[in-house]
Amino acid sequence: MIEYRNLRVAVLGAGSVGAQVASLLLEHGDELASRVGAGLDLVGVAVRDPKARRTADIPKRLITTDAESLILGADIVVELMGGLEPARSYLELAMNSGADVITANKALLATHGPELFAIAEQVGAQLYYEAAVGGAIPIIRPLRDSLAGDRVHRILGIVNGTTNYILDRMDTEGDTLEEALAAATELGYAEADPTADIEGFDAAQKASILASLAFHTTVPLESVHREGITGVTHAQVQAARDAGFVVKLLAVCERLVDSATGIEGVSTRVHPALVPRTHPLAAVHGANNAVFLEAEAAGSLMFYGAGAGGVQTASAVLGDVVSAARRHVVGGPGVAESTSAGLPILPISSVTTRYQITLEVADRPGVLARIATLFSEHGVSVEAVHQTVRPLAAPAGGTGAAPATATLVIGTHEATESALAATVASLTGTESVAEVTSVLRVEGL
Ligand code: NAP
Repeated sequence: MIEYRNLRVAVLGAGSVGAQVASLLLEHGDELASRVGAGLDLVGVAVRDPKARRTADIPKRLITTDAESLILGADIVVELMGGLEPARSYLELAMNSGADVITANKALLATHGPELFAIAEQVGAQLYYEAAVGGAIPIIRPLRDSLAGDRVHRILGIVNGTTNYILDRMDTEGDTLEEALAAATELGYAEADPTADIEGFDAAQKASILASLAFHTTVPLESVHREGITGVTHAQVQAARDAGFVVKLLAVCERLVDSATGIEGVSTRVHPALVPRTHPLAAVHGANNAVFLEAEAAGSLMFYGAGAGGVQTASAVLGDVVSAARRHVVGGPGVAESTSAGLPILPISSVTTRYQITLEVADRPGVLARIATLFSEHGVSVEAVHQTVRPLAAPAGGTGAAPATATLVIGTHEATESALAATVASLTGTESVAEVTSVLRVEGL
């Protein structure tokens, strides 16, 4: 057997993930070397503050603040710093100097993915990013390799652990959003500034990566329709529970045909949705992640596990290190990303799904009929109506019966977003409708 020279691995960043990657590389180096067919030498770990405490032991001699020199002397560069810059420039430098690169940085890939993939193709490098979506869960390689011979139709993903933890607590403990967020912060699931998670930015970045891979089409981050969970109320979650649903923040990536134009394309959206309690995604509790996908030949598949965590994410990164090292041993250029389908990106208005709308209406004869007519005038077919009548308390000191109101929960058959939006707009302007209290999409039926 031909002996291959040892490969030089540089790690950029020694935070939650980077420290674990460096430590596991040192601990299991011999075992990984035998899988690769070449030794793996950790040549350095770049940080900002060499004196900072680390979550795993890294020998002092390996710590450096000179990331550029480290990159120039490496065969494999692992970027675990986060942020857009200098992460982007460092990956570019690494590829241009002949290294393969690995990153867990979804923000970077969702923002600069196409230009980084173009550089990789140009110089024959390989860019690996298994940890960028779903932490420890293998989903990038299954989409890129295992399912490359199939046609993916749809992905429903729980790809943000913080929001899943919050919504799960609202469902199982009866917490308000504020209470659940406070608990998530205390347990370290939510950052001091939780905006990226609760407003759906993090999930949108991951959705753009998943959709691009699944549909062999570049899906820009700006094209992802995004709604966070800040509007989700305790009442919505409890009503969902009573009706046999659970509220989840979903990343929905679909290949669909726009009914108005007949154009086939890709739609990607992130928003809270009602999921039936019988659906496998309803069983994803706490901060876990899962990606449920439907493919033409494979049928339904679900990938489930820890979506974050230093050591868990390090597992996915080390898998990439082994792949990159094997490629070095075998030689030849890296495999380019497939964007061969080049499908058009469709706007949210093209999406067709089911909805559940909750209204407060006056409890008077004819109101229900008027509302049903309004739905049908906009081409939205009603599947089920549930009505709860509630007499209002008599005004203080007043006499006579106060007018009764009713809560209507209306489930629709599949309708387009544009038809639904028009229906909601006209409901809001109808005299007998006091308020449209909730509009939620229903997925996974
Ligand atoms: P982190 O704990 O904030 O650590 C970042 C590390 O990068 C720190 O060691 C920091 O150095 C170093 N760093 C930052 N800027 C640098 C610079 N300009 N030069 C040199 N070093 C620099 O981050 P993390 O949680 O490990 O996340 C790393 C990446 O993995 C991110 O892209 C994140 O999105 C992704 N990811 C994380 C998880 C997770 O569970 N944490 C899961 C999946 C993906 P100092 O320590 O000296 O400040």
